[in-house]
Amino acid sequence: MSKLRPLSIGLRGLILVLVLLTVIATLCNSLWVAYGVQRDALVHSALQANQAYTSKVASSIGQFLDSAHSRLSYSSRLLGRNFNDLQLLREEAVHLQAEDKAFNAVLIVDASGKVLQIYPDKAQIIGTTLTTEDVQQALKERRPLVSHAYVNAADNLIVFISQPVFSPSGQFLGIIGASIYIRKQGILHTLIGSHYHQDGTFAFVADENRRLLYHSDHRRTGEVLTTSATLDAALRGEHGSMEAINYQGIPMLAGYAQVPDANWAVVAQQPREQALAPLAQLLRDMFIKVIPAGLVGLLVIWVATLLISRPLRQLAHSAKQLSAPQASEQLQAINGWYAEAAAIRRALLAGVQLLQQKLGHLSHQAQSDPLTGLANRRAMSAALEALTLAQREYAVLALDIDHFKRVNDTFGHDVGDETLKQVAAIIAQDSREDDLAFRAGGEEFALILPETDLQAARDIAERIRQTIATTQIAPSGPLTISIGVACRNDETPTPESILKRADEHLYHAKQTGRNRVVA
Ligand code: GH3
Ligand code: MG
Ligand code: MG
Repeated sequence: MSKLRPLSIGLRGLILVLVLLTVIATLCNSLWVAYGVQRDALVHSALQANQAYTSKVASSIGQFLDSAHSRLSYSSRLLGRNFNDLQLLREEAVHLQAEDKAFNAVLIVDASGKVLQIYPDKAQIIGTTLTTEDVQQALKERRPLVSHAYVNAADNLIVFISQPVFSPSGQFLGIIGASIYIRKQGILHTLIGSHYHQDGTFAFVADENRRLLYHSDHRRTGEVLTTSATLDAALRGEHGSMEAINYQGIPMLAGYAQVPDANWAVVAQQPREQALAPLAQLLRDMFIKVIPAGLVGLLVIWVATLLISRPLRQLAHSAKQLSAPQASEQLQAINGWYAEAAAIRRALLAGVQLLQQKLGHLSHQAQSDPLTGLANRRAMSAALEALTLAQREYAVLALDIDHFKRVNDTFGHDVGDETLKQVAAIIAQDSREDDLAFRAGGEEFALILPETDLQAARDIAERIRQTIATTQIAPSGPLTISIGVACRNDETPTPESILKRADEHLYHAKQTGRNRVVA
């Protein structure tokens, strides 16, 4: 599996992005939910208001028709006893019309359809036979009736309410009826128009022929509606509310009810869009109210991300330089205030201590020779490696005590050791400050001379050889040493090749009589 390249964004940025995304998502979600809930509530309340309104209007119209029938019924019983008394007929017509302002005209007709009385007076009609649909229907059905709406000769939209007149013996004598002019400021205007419509709500009343008896837009009164789901429902005798599309394709929230006994429909509706108009303002208010709290929240998050990421950032910084001498103090200074940061800090501290212990141990134990105190062969390899890496020039001396075996053989191993120590001390003393002295093994030593050419190296080697040869080393007595010298050059570019060359020269010195320098 290939490893992903680490992002350049830090922990703090990640937390911020994550929190911001969460906050935005939550805010959008809240607004969306609030929008849905408020929308449903507004729709519900608009539907309910319209339904309640239509029920009230329908029952008011019903009461009005009921009381009109009651008054006509009273008059019909009165006239039934004296239907031939024209004076009585006239008095009753005048009385009815005067009593009820809604009755635009009162009409009394005999069983054949002949007009016996009309008030207000229209002398030319008295004595004529009426063939209009409303009168004919009333004569035929002989029961209390509310006619369809129709337009009369004077272009009035009229509804005719009638009661049959029977003699005490039950003989059908004729009808007494009242016409209500719908277009004029009549009863429907009083009942509906008095209700205050706002937010585009409007109402209409239609008869069973779908003719508008009343419309909030008065110009439409008299019009016949072709399609209206609400009207259909109300004419079926239902009452309730529904979301419906009006004839202009506009979604509406409508309430509807049927007027009892008349099969008229009352519908009140409001464009859905207007019912939902407060929503936008509501959401805007909500959003504005959320902003201060949101800003405070962001500030808190900002500070929190700082506090959370700081220990990790500092730990990451320290982790880059664990081998630095001050790494421990740096780690101690970091405030790992939460569990993970504290655990990482503890682990890093332990790591640093272990590392520094190891380094110290290694550099001391593994790199020095316990007998002579000089650096050992391993340290020599490391030094050569470092010099080569740094591309520095250097020379190498390979030194070997002549006939050292004899010292051991003659004076014993302890004296041999003591002798080795003294020779090592002379080599160290005779070399320069920058030169590096090593015990290469046994009675063999090496000197690395940085920035030293062959001639200078040879001179130094010669000086050491002479010092050894002329120094009284107690108790083994005089000693000599052979030295091979090599420099870094094109033939000997690597540490190994230089060492090998120095060894070859040392061998050559031994071969050619010892106590000499070969370069
Ligand atoms: P040459 O002139 O050819 O170098 O002769 P040499 O005797 O010095 O060389 P050889 O390699 O034959 O003997 C080296 C001796 O050094 C053998 C060994 O006992 C002795 N030796 C090596 N390491 C130590 C040490 O740590 N202490 C003592 N006392 N002797 C050592
Ligand atoms: Mg040797
Ligand atoms: Mg030797």
